[in-house]
Amino acid sequence: MNQPFITFGSPDIQQDEIDAVIATMQSCWLGTGPKVAQLEKDFSRYKLVTSEQVAAVNSCTAALHVSLIAAGVGPGDEVITTPLTFCATVNAIIHAGATPVLADIDPLTLNIDPTEIARKISSRTKALVPVHFAGRPCEMDAIVQLANQHQLKIIEDCAHAIETEYRGQKAGTFGDFGCFSFYVTKNITTGEGGMVIGKKIEDIQRVKILALHGMSKDAWKRFSDDGYKHYQVVECGFKYNMMDLQAAIGIPQLARVDQSWIIRQQIWQQYQQAFADLPVQLPMEPQADTRHGYHLYTLILDPERSPLSRDQLLDAMTKRGIGVGVHYMSLPEHSFYQQKFAWQPQQCPHAMFAGRQIISLPISAKLTAIELQRVISAVQELLQG
Ligand SMILES: *Cc1c(COP(=O)(O)O)cnc(C)c1O
Repeated sequence: MNQPFITFGSPDIQQDEIDAVIATMQSCWLGTGPKVAQLEKDFSRYKLVTSEQVAAVNSCTAALHVSLIAAGVGPGDEVITTPLTFCATVNAIIHAGATPVLADIDPLTLNIDPTEIARKISSRTKALVPVHFAGRPCEMDAIVQLANQHQLKIIEDCAHAIETEYRGQKAGTFGDFGCFSFYVTKNITTGEGGMVIGKKIEDIQRVKILALHGMSKDAWKRFSDDGYKHYQVVECGFKYNMMDLQAAIGIPQLARVDQSWIIRQQIWQQYQQAFADLPVQLPMEPQADTRHGYHLYTLILDPERSPLSRDQLLDAMTKRGIGVGVHYMSLPEHSFYQQKFAWQPQQCPHAMFAGRQIISLPISAKLTAIELQRVISAVQELLQG
């Protein structure tokens, strides 16, 4: 019997999103406008910041790029980040003209290790880009302390971490900037999209200008019914604005963010119980006084005891109709970075090991109880040996 394929990271799209997109199409205002302003307002409320402290953009990659520039990062600067992240994190640093420097992860939390950051700080270090891996918050006390001590900017990569909190404070509000992703597989989606939170209002004003060609006024205000307004190009910006069509999807998604989080938390907890006796390293339980975003559920195979290699497990799961992922091969595994920066996987041994043994299982809020049971049974059968 052929069972339907479980697509990894498939988003939970409901009738509200479909209706909102149709209403936006019918309004004929597709570009940046009232829906984007609404999503910004809703997001700022969720994050307990003011609406002047957020800016919607068309991806987290764009958010990181303009945040780095607005943080004053440029040629000659070094920016320290984690090797266990999506390539966009370092590509944004490179696009800002700076040199990325990797600090290895803590092998248990899989987040950047503050002691490794301290070892990598030089006179050229300008900023830190911690990534809250899988939604687990980084050690922000230690990271903020290092940044204060060495006068470094912090740009948090919160692509996994909309719901994440650390000691009662929301992820994305520790740094000078917090960057969020609304890509299809993320905790909430707008298809493609992202958001920046800024500590300072003037930083977000700069981000908004950088994200729309360097223009001093956005198109919505330009063509509004209180008359045409001239704009000035005040710097050479980018084309990173979010459309109302995208924001229309995001508004109901954000309204359900905590509901979806509870569903993913339950999936996460069921996986933890089901896989406790397998030859794997389970994700570390969330630390007290923090909130995990439960964006990814990852197993790290014990290569000495696992009956299958990681890549054999990826294939076997796919054959059973279950989509799986790898988050992530460590960045020094990729040829471009090896050639450009002479990076070698061995320089970050913990990230190298994790990246070679890790597998991500489906944790979408859309996963049904039957699908969840299929994933659990497949992993148990394949790894029990
Ligand atoms: C998805 C992701 C990004 C990029 O997000 P986009 O919105 O697709 O540009 C950046 N960093 C991390 C850690 C991610 O997972």
